[in-house]
Amino acid sequence: MRRELLKQQAAIARVVERPESEADRTFDALGLIPELLSAINHAGYRNPTAIQQQAIPPALSGRDVLGCAQTGTGKTAAFTLPLLQHLDARAGNEPRLRALVLTPTRELAAQISASFSTYGADLDLWHTVVFGGVSDKPQIAEIRRGLDALVATPGRLLDLMGRGVVRLDDVEIFVVDEADRMLDMGFLPDVRRIARALPEKRQTMFFSATMPPEIRRLAEGLLDRPVSVAVAPISSTVEQVAQHVFFVDKAKKRGLLADLLRDPELKHTIVFSRTKHGANRIVRELGKAGIRAEAIHGNKSQGARTRALDAFRDGSLSVLVATDIAARGIDVEGVTHVINFDLPNVPETYVHRIGRTARAGASGVALSFCDREERSHLASIERLIGKRLIQSDGGRTPRTGAEA
Ligand code: AMP
Repeated sequence: MRRELLKQQAAIARVVERPESEADRTFDALGLIPELLSAINHAGYRNPTAIQQQAIPPALSGRDVLGCAQTGTGKTAAFTLPLLQHLDARAGNEPRLRALVLTPTRELAAQISASFSTYGADLDLWHTVVFGGVSDKPQIAEIRRGLDALVATPGRLLDLMGRGVVRLDDVEIFVVDEADRMLDMGFLPDVRRIARALPEKRQTMFFSATMPPEIRRLAEGLLDRPVSVAVAPISSTVEQVAQHVFFVDKAKKRGLLADLLRDPELKHTIVFSRTKHGANRIVRELGKAGIRAEAIHGNKSQGARTRALDAFRDGSLSVLVATDIAARGIDVEGVTHVINFDLPNVPETYVHRIGRTARAGASGVALSFCDREERSHLASIERLIGKRLIQSDGGRTPRTGAEA
C-alpha cells in the first residue's frame, strides 16, 4: 500500500469575505491547511502574490478559475496549493489519478513537478511528471506504482493514454497552464482531445498570459462559471533586472542619489519621481551637486521633452528624471539603471518602471529608495513580483548582474 494514512477530515476552505486589510494579505487568511502553510514558510514566502490572493480562496471552495497571469507572478503556487489541499482532503487508501496538470514544455512541467514536491512535502500524496523527448520507461514505471497527480505535456500524455498506461476517468481537478503557449506550439487540438477524456464533473483551472480569441473559446468550453482572476502582466524582462532596495530616510535620499550617480557604472539612468514637482527638485539638487540631469513630465513643453529624450537617446545626457505618466510609451534602448527615488503606491507601476531597463535581452539594475512611510508599498511590490528585493547599503553601487 502506497499510502499509510487515511485522511478522514476534509479541510474546510475559509473564504475571505471581509474587506481586505493588511492582515488579510497573508497566507493564513487564505484558508490553507497547516501542512501547506508550513511548506510555504519553509520556501521562505512571506505573503501571497496578487494572483495567489485572488485565486486560492475560490479554488479552495471548488470553483473553476480563469487566470490571466504569466510566469513570475506566482501562478504555479496559485493552482498547486488548492490542488494539493483538495487531494489531501479526499485521499483514500490507494492513490488514484485525481489531478492532471497540462503544460506546454518540459521545463515548465519539471518546474511544476518541483513545486508539487516543495508544497506537498508534508502531505502523503504521489505525483510524477511526463514529457516527450526522453525514454518513457521510467515514466511508465512511476505511473504504474500509483499516483494522485500527474504533470504532463500534451503529446506524451496522449501517447500514454493511447497505450492504456494512463486513464483519466478519476480526474477531479484539471489544470491548463500557459494556454497561449500551447496555442503557439500547435497543441490546442491535443488539449481538446485530452479534455474529452476527462469526467464532466471536475474542477478546472485555466491559466494564460494573454487571452486571444482561440484561447478564450477553449476556456469557455472547458470552464463552468469560472471566477476570473488577473494580475498585471509582468514584463518578462523583470527576471533579468537585478533589483535592490536602499532603506533610507526621506531627507537623505537626494544625497544618496548624487552619490550613486557619481559611479561611472550608471551610464544611462532613468530616475523616477512620483510628482512633477519632485522631478524638478531632483534635477535642481543634482545640478548643485554637479550632475547634469533633465526632467520630463507633463508641465514641460513638448519641445523640451523631445530635446531631453533625444539627448538621453544619443548619450549626451546620462540622467533622465521622469514621472510615470511622462515615461509611458518611451522606449529607450540601453538604459543601464532605473532608480526609484520614491516607491509607487501601485505595485504594477514599479514593474512598468523597472521594465525600462533590461530591454531586448540585456540585463539591468533597478535601485529603489524606501523610507519608513514607503515600507507598505515595498511589501505590495514584493508580493506582486513574488520575490524580495536585495537590500543594499549606501556605500556600494550594485553592478549589473554580478551581485544579484
Ligand atoms: P511562477 O510564476 O509560478 O513561475 O513563480 C515565480 C517564482 O516566484 C517562483 O520562483 C516561486 O518560487 C516564487 N514564488 C511563488 N509564490 C511566492 C510568494 N508568495 N512569495 C515569494 N515568492 C514566491
